[in-house]
Amino acid sequence: MSTKNGSGGLNRREFLKVGVAGTTAAMIGGSSLAGAVQQLASPDPFAFPSPVYRTLGRTGLKVSIVSFGAMLTPEPEVLKVAFDNGVNYVDTARKYMDGKNEEIVARALKGRRDKVFVATKTLPSSKTKEDIIRDVETSLKTLETDHIDVIQLHSLTDKDRIFISETREALLTLKQQGKVRFCGVTTHKNQPEVLNALVDDKDRFFDTCLVAYNFESHKDVATAIERAAKAGIGIIAMKTQAGGYKTEALGKISPHQAALKFALQNPSVTMAIPGMKDLSQFRENVAVMGMTFKATDARILQRYHAAVAGFYCDLCGTCEGTCPRGVDISTVNRALMYAEGYRDRELARSTYRELPRSLSADACVDCPVCTAQCVNGLNIAAKMQQARTLLA
Ligand code: SF4
Ligand code: SF4
Repeated sequence: MSTKNGSGGLNRREFLKVGVAGTTAAMIGGSSLAGAVQQLASPDPFAFPSPVYRTLGRTGLKVSIVSFGAMLTPEPEVLKVAFDNGVNYVDTARKYMDGKNEEIVARALKGRRDKVFVATKTLPSSKTKEDIIRDVETSLKTLETDHIDVIQLHSLTDKDRIFISETREALLTLKQQGKVRFCGVTTHKNQPEVLNALVDDKDRFFDTCLVAYNFESHKDVATAIERAAKAGIGIIAMKTQAGGYKTEALGKISPHQAALKFALQNPSVTMAIPGMKDLSQFRENVAVMGMTFKATDARILQRYHAAVAGFYCDLCGTCEGTCPRGVDISTVNRALMYAEGYRDRELARSTYRELPRSLSADACVDCPVCTAQCVNGLNIAAKMQQARTLLA
């Protein structure tokens, strides 16, 4: 696989192409049309930094440290700009946009497949040999490719799915057929348990772990990440921006850039895959490649922490033992974060709908008093109410 390794610039013609082929409003992330016109007229094209690559654990893949989380991306044109400027890893999933996200990625990969490593995910509910093979075959067809570089079991909440023998059999068959190259898992919840199980697995079956990690993460997550990286598991960070909540400028760089720098300064993290809707978000994120995390960034993150403290849930799941009805509070909060932080109501609703009603915020309706306790002081009853209002 060859990758473009030089710096590039997004010139006016490229920007116009994005605007014309895509949806201009979507490309500019909700900023005004006047803002778009200003960008188009700007005499200074955005100068892409020289991409920085690291090795993804024992896979040996050399990947750009800021890579592309495609789950929010409605247009292939933004992905094309990224691929043409040295970003060489894209992460999608069977379930994103009900399968449409893989179609968008496929359109961006046309003529570029040999420059980009493609990662996707089986459905969270898939466990049997038949399920896994069906998911991968569907992804291959939708992505219009003959192989997937990294296939991931989606959204593990404990270690159990790591050890399902049928799942492994299916993945081995697919590897032997050359349809997948490497296998990984993704997790948002009970992450230390999942990471440690990957290391303690006597077969060391899985090669990568996509894990939620940011400046708000608990120490046990960072410790498990370090242990897994030392064991050769390639660590890919997601949720690096603590929900991507909009804030006022908090310093010279945006809080999202400071948060991304924080995640990437951890030597155990190979790369981050921020979800990017549009060109302005892509430019914001890609700009941090090659930057180092400084004391000024730490101060920006302190202010960002204060700005999001009232609503950011780090998905630790600790509160769930204090709810007598066993509501899956962390998943409800994750869905809420997709709505309020990522501003993606569709993703938020589909995540919420995956929960059985008895484990969703619907179960709170006739609960006489909320006894659930958040280690970070969040008002859980209010969050559940908000989730019902926005998502139920
Ligand atoms: S509500 Fe609090 S305790 Fe529960 S998962 Fe979120 S941060 Fe953890
Ligand atoms: S209101 Fe609180 S304690 Fe009651 S079911 Fe909901 S989360 Fe659990």
